[in-house]
Amino acid sequence: MTSTELLQQSCAYIDGQWVQAESGERLAVTNPATLEEVGTVPDMGQQDARRAIDAAQRAFPKWSSKTAKEREQVLKEWARLIRLNAPALAALLTQEQGKPLLEARNEVMFAASFVEWFAEEAKRTYGEVIPPAHAGMRFMVQKEPVGVCAGITPWNLPSAMVTRKAAPALAAGCTMVLKPAEHTPLSALALAALAEQAGIPPGVFNVITSSRKNAAEIGAELTSNPNVAKVSFTGSTQVGKILIGQCAESVKRVSMELGGNSPFIVLQDADLKTAIQAALFAKFRNAGQTCIAPNRFFVHEAVSHDFVQGLSKAMEGLKWGDGARDGVNLGPLISAQAVEKVERHVNDALNKGAALVCGGERPEGPGYFYKPTLLTGVTPEMLMTQEETFGPVVGVGVFSREEDLLKQVNNTRMGLAAYLFSSSAARIQRLSGHLEAGIVGVNTGLIATEVAPFGGYKESGLGREGARQGIDEFMETKFICEAFVDEGNEAEVSA
Ligand code: NAP
Repeated sequence: MTSTELLQQSCAYIDGQWVQAESGERLAVTNPATLEEVGTVPDMGQQDARRAIDAAQRAFPKWSSKTAKEREQVLKEWARLIRLNAPALAALLTQEQGKPLLEARNEVMFAASFVEWFAEEAKRTYGEVIPPAHAGMRFMVQKEPVGVCAGITPWNLPSAMVTRKAAPALAAGCTMVLKPAEHTPLSALALAALAEQAGIPPGVFNVITSSRKNAAEIGAELTSNPNVAKVSFTGSTQVGKILIGQCAESVKRVSMELGGNSPFIVLQDADLKTAIQAALFAKFRNAGQTCIAPNRFFVHEAVSHDFVQGLSKAMEGLKWGDGARDGVNLGPLISAQAVEKVERHVNDALNKGAALVCGGERPEGPGYFYKPTLLTGVTPEMLMTQEETFGPVVGVGVFSREEDLLKQVNNTRMGLAAYLFSSSAARIQRLSGHLEAGIVGVNTGLIATEVAPFGGYKESGLGREGARQGIDEFMETKFICEAFVDEGNEAEVSA
């Protein structure tokens, strides 16, 4: 058996046990590059979700009463095992999700970085002592874990999105029920197997797998069960809104990492080589399927020709294919529907007057591929400007006046990331302060790190993940307002 096979689970993980769905149903996982079956997992439903919540509820008192140092040690062991098994985890990730092996490995290391970071942060969930408002009193504030948390994660980062939720939750002293996406349950189950090996006790981290047909009933249970204190979701804005609505009934805490529609702005004084490299990396990573992928390109008219020429040349280095094959640096999309969406966006842009520089079609053969595509003449009415394309497509629009730029850039209900390229400190300062986005990359396309807060403005989400803020999302703040009782008073009271 290879180490990838050893890590590949065929059961879900509840209360420290590897279990089947109550219904006995199973779900097939398919490789999007080859359309071959990779494996099967239980197709769970509401009953299974309830079983997992009960287990997490039973595990909570003991886990939350461990010292932060004890939790740190177990989490650090989990991080170590993830790193040790990175090649096998990456191979599994590529099989179920499609991204090239090198990218998959980077994602696994990114996943481990959250576990290590929050293991450390567990020890820094400080409270404070406040100067009291009245004599004879003590005002103290302390942080406490919220309780049982539900995590719901997407398929585009099947490892990192799991640990970006589970690590801060567990570090804070919470327990978790995690539901990964139907396309990518295997990475989440492999992480659970390593959590078990690391000594994370039964019930503290549970993974329930399901098909999309059962996602709504599992979601309904996770958002309505009174024993769940908090729901942390990463996925589309559309589903996020449903979950926020469902959580309102029992006033659950929510964290929402939702969709993006990120602008990529190139000013006339930008270093074009840097901008082109950043566009190539940020746009074509994961075949364009990241929430922070640049989606709207605003390039100053003075440099647009050179930017397009340079980018189209750089795109010649993109080799699409099965991510498990050597030399491939652009994998498939996740599904047939994803390819149809990209096709719809490209055709809509072409029908509305955009010009094709390269790509613009599916290649022959199996797999959900779309050729790397570059369009110019992209305008605000086009679908690719209004919605996330979530594919390997760059649509360049041109601007001439900085005054009009901000209005266009901020003219969206999304506000996750923005990219700005300029060599003028004054312009950078002026524009970055006015961009309505939770994350602004200046002269770089690499903006996600475990040490800095990640999250969006507007309909891109609520709350932050990573950084010191990430653990706060899983903690309550308690104010203890204490009046001193001197011994004389105490004696009077008891008499
Ligand atoms: P999605 O359709 O919203 O699915 C996300 C997760 O929600 C999956 O596990 C899905 O399960 C589940 N789900 C779907 N309907 C549900 C319901 N009614 N109740 C409970 N759970 C439900 O999103 P996606 O297509 O997988 O992911 C792409 C989206 O995620 C993009 O919009 C992207 O921008 C966003 N994203 C955001 C961030 C961020 O940090 N802001 C990071 C990554 C991705 P099934 O798979 O079984 O349907």
